[in-house]
Amino acid sequence: MNIQDSHKIKLIMKLRQAGINDITVLSALERTPREIFIPENFIDQAYEDTALPIGMGQTISQPYIVALMTQSLEINDRDKVLEIGTGSGYQGSILARLCRRLYTIERHKPLLEVAEHKFAEQGLRNITAMVGDGMKGWPQQAPFDKIIVTAGALEKPPQDLLDQLKIGGLMVIPVGNRMHNQILKLYRKESDDLFSVKDLCPVRFVPLLPDIAKTKEYTDDDYAQLPD
Ligand code: SAH
Repeated sequence: MNIQDSHKIKLIMKLRQAGINDITVLSALERTPREIFIPENFIDQAYEDTALPIGMGQTISQPYIVALMTQSLEINDRDKVLEIGTGSGYQGSILARLCRRLYTIERHKPLLEVAEHKFAEQGLRNITAMVGDGMKGWPQQAPFDKIIVTAGALEKPPQDLLDQLKIGGLMVIPVGNRMHNQILKLYRKESDDLFSVKDLCPVRFVPLLPDIAKTKEYTDDDYAQLPD
């Protein structure tokens, strides 16, 4: 066994102790190689339970939070899932191993291009990805059984996303002021205009921002951190 495999086993054990007990979720995490989603100089930290940079000022989430969000959605192999914030493609790769079809939206084109290569590299063929403003959702493909937002909304989930959830569907989303009190929330759509909400835990996500990012705002550093 190489050192990375032993780090991976330790991480999975840690997640189990922290309350991730859904075997299908743990198995999807075990089968998803986190090292391919991060820049070369951080590879020795691939299986530590921390967020890491992925370029364009964004981060790949901490594995515990990835596992918790995935588990809270109770995904099964008939689900059509929407992800907002493709980022590195790590969370999306885990979701795709559990659901029927994943739709994923990212506002930074360079990140989406790298993520699409990573999906192909793993042989994941049930993913459709696009550059866009995820706050508007993906109306042509709605409704969705499950929605996951991997960036923080300031006050409440975008209305378009609530509208695009099936009745009985679940949405997990960080909500709140990023520095102080962002909380991971789980919404269940009870009827067209009634939602039940459960607070899961405090989190720190990058902000959910409107519109597609403008390429001219990137620095050389942003590109240097993109995984190969
Ligand atoms: N799920 C990712 C985490 C990425 S961090 C992973 O596993 O690596 C959050 C991502 O959300 C960032 O890449 C950011 O650019 C993106 N994002 C923020 N606002 C967005 C929006 N309105 N539409 C689409 N993507 C958005």
